[in-house]
Amino acid sequence: MLTTIPDIIIAIDGYSATGKSTLAKLISKEFGFLYLDSGALYRGVTLFALEQGMIEGTDKIDLERLLPALEGLDIHFENGSQTYMGERCIEGEIRDLRVGSSVSPVAAIPQVRAYVDDRLHMFGAAGRVVMDGRDIGTTVFPDAQLKLFVTADDMVRAQRRLDEMVAKGQEATIEEVLSNLKERDYIDSHRETSPLSRAEDAFVLDNSDMTLHEEIVWVRGLIMGRFGILE
Ligand code: C5P
Repeated sequence: MLTTIPDIIIAIDGYSATGKSTLAKLISKEFGFLYLDSGALYRGVTLFALEQGMIEGTDKIDLERLLPALEGLDIHFENGSQTYMGERCIEGEIRDLRVGSSVSPVAAIPQVRAYVDDRLHMFGAAGRVVMDGRDIGTTVFPDAQLKLFVTADDMVRAQRRLDEMVAKGQEATIEEVLSNLKERDYIDSHRETSPLSRAEDAFVLDNSDMTLHEEIVWVRGLIMGRFGILE
């Protein structure tokens, strides 16, 4: 492990299911950084809204009830990167397709974005953080010292996400997963507030044909070159 890396913020953005969080977790382990999954906070708000009956269908959201409720909503991380709502661990539930189908409309609400951004700033204030999402390098931490933008082929992404779901005992077809990913990418890229886009100073990583080991070697090289660190 490299110990000489400065207390920087690493922002990892990109499309759904490109392996951003897997890469971010590995970076956090390799360099001793705190890992923050911004998508988990959006998923937590979505789970809350679903459980409170504030979402009809997949995208008709009762803003009159959701917006005031945000003030008292406690979504945070414990034990590393486990997501909690109050005292309840919601890490499993936020990953299912029901939440996945409504999270992008919820994440397009400006007040929800402000709620999540506040938390990310609070959790990431001390630096030495790697954070993944859609707008970390453009909006949340525009001054992050290292920005990555991750992409991968559609089918590769869908298969990876399906494999993850099957491993957790969840059921879905590749068509359902692919259509959910594409729909989320579309909404995320076209919303008015902080749409998904590559920061001008982000390094692009297309990992369609890369192993995780190759990715971390690439990132390590980038960090060493950028910060003049010798192993
Ligand atoms: O990363 P993940 O797929 O878990 O994110 C779930 C959803 O949360 C995304 O599809 C997107 O709608 C939203 N999101 C966002 N901005 C972020 C992170 C996630 O809008 N920084």
